[in-house]
Amino acid sequence: MRLGLHVDSKAGLLPAVDYAQRLGCTALQIFSSNPRSYRPQALDRAAFGAFAERCAAAGIEPAVIHTSYLINLASDDPKIAAGSLRLLKADLEAAAAGGIAYVNTHLGSYGTRDRGEGFGQVVLALERALAEIPAGVTLVMENSAGAGNLCGGTLEELGAFVRALAHPQLGVCLDTAHSWAAGYAINAKAGVDAFVELADREIGLERVNLFHFNDTQIPLGGHRDRHFHIGEGLIGFEGFRALAAHPELRGKAAILETPGEEADDARNMQTIRLIFEGAGV
Ligand SMILES: [Zn+2]
Ligand SMILES: [Zn+2]
Repeated sequence: MRLGLHVDSKAGLLPAVDYAQRLGCTALQIFSSNPRSYRPQALDRAAFGAFAERCAAAGIEPAVIHTSYLINLASDDPKIAAGSLRLLKADLEAAAAGGIAYVNTHLGSYGTRDRGEGFGQVVLALERALAEIPAGVTLVMENSAGAGNLCGGTLEELGAFVRALAHPQLGVCLDTAHSWAAGYAINAKAGVDAFVELADREIGLERVNLFHFNDTQIPLGGHRDRHFHIGEGLIGFEGFRALAAHPELRGKAAILETPGEEADDARNMQTIRLIFEGAGV
């Protein structure tokens, strides 16, 4: 698998690539703009062009944009729904300018509304985004921890979106911490095998473009989204070893979104690399 980190790009896109390279990443994820703002920034094509060149020089492929946390495609507030779609489209444009293969997004929450109605609205929003998606970019829906009425908390629901839209540039990202919090016991080989098999049946593994590798201390099925250092949480070494060794996942990309500063990032990257080496991959 290609392994990398979510990297802070507040200091700029090029320093983010340099940081990822220094820590031995072969993939990386960034926010294209402030993840807590509804206002898309004007696209700086030159900066994203330079980012593409720097990634190529550093052997980093794929790069990923994680969309704003404010995106809620399921909102019953038309202003929020429209603003969410605007942000998503802006990130798809930025990705095209930066040679970035994947735009990873949370879908949002149905809130108090009827689930079927919310599902239909998310399908419509994704349809609009996909109608204008640039070539070479894939929109990737991230699974959620399934709290409250969050969309995408089950592999079945993600599969339902994939089938409803049937678009070649639509894929799925499976975050290990969210999966665990949603109730998938991926802390040992049997659970990982069952999880991958279910993902294949419901979504199709060719559509699972991306993983987020995060450990967590939330209890299984706890529906809370808290990331922890690799191997130091409840998924643990066994869980990540089973993911690393799974033959069907070879060649996929995995991004770490673990907490902390550079020393923590370096340690987490080293741990995940050792797990892969130990798994003989
Ligand atoms: Zn996320
Ligand atoms: Zn994630």
